[in-house]
Amino acid sequence: MREYDQSPKGKASQSFRSIKKRIGKGSYKDVELRLTQEQYMYWAVPAYEHFMRKNPGVTPSVDRIDNGGHYERGNLQVISYQDNASKRSNTKRHLAPEGHSWCRICDKFKPYIDFGVQRSSKNGCRSECFECMGMPGNGRGIRSPRAKLTEADVSQIKELHQNGATTKFLADKFCVTTAAIRYRLR
Ligand SMILES: [Zn+2]
Repeated sequence: MREYDQSPKGKASQSFRSIKKRIGKGSYKDVELRLTQEQYMYWAVPAYEHFMRKNPGVTPSVDRIDNGGHYERGNLQVISYQDNASKRSNTKRHLAPEGHSWCRICDKFKPYIDFGVQRSSKNGCRSECFECMGMPGNGRGIRSPRAKLTEADVSQIKELHQNGATTKFLADKFCVTTAAIRYRLR
C-alpha cells in the first residue's frame, strides 16, 4: 500500500482527494474543480510521473498556473511542494494592501508590524502572523528592514515627528530601523 501511495498514480489520486476537500472553503471559496476524477487522473498520472523522474526526492504538488483560476484543463501543472507554497504566499502577499502582508494560517491581510522578520521573503515578513504563532501581536521591537516606506508613510512620519514622536516610536510603528527613520527626517 505504501508503495502505491508513493507511486505517480497514488500521488495523483491523493491530490484529487485533497483538492476536493479544499475547494469551496476559506481562500478556496470561489475555486472550482472542473474535472471528473477520470479526466483529472488522465492528466495527473503522466504529469506526476514526468516530474518525479526529473526531480527525484522532491515532493511534487499540483499547482494552478493562474492562482486566481480553477482546477481545470490548461491551468494545472506539477511543481515542487516548496515552490507551490512560496508561489501561493507571494500571490497572496502581492494582493495585500500597502504596508500589509498575508498570513498563511489565518488567511488574513495584516500590517507588517504583526509579522516577524524573514529576510529571505520578498517583503521581509514571515509567512505566519504573531497571533497564529501564539505570540502577542503588538510587534514591539520587531523590525523589518526590507519593509519599504511609501510616500504616505514618510509624510506621516514627518508629521508625527513634528508632533513629538521619537525615532524609536516611529521605527516600531513603521516596522523599520531607527536609522531608516532618521534618514527620512534629514
Ligand atoms: Zn495569522
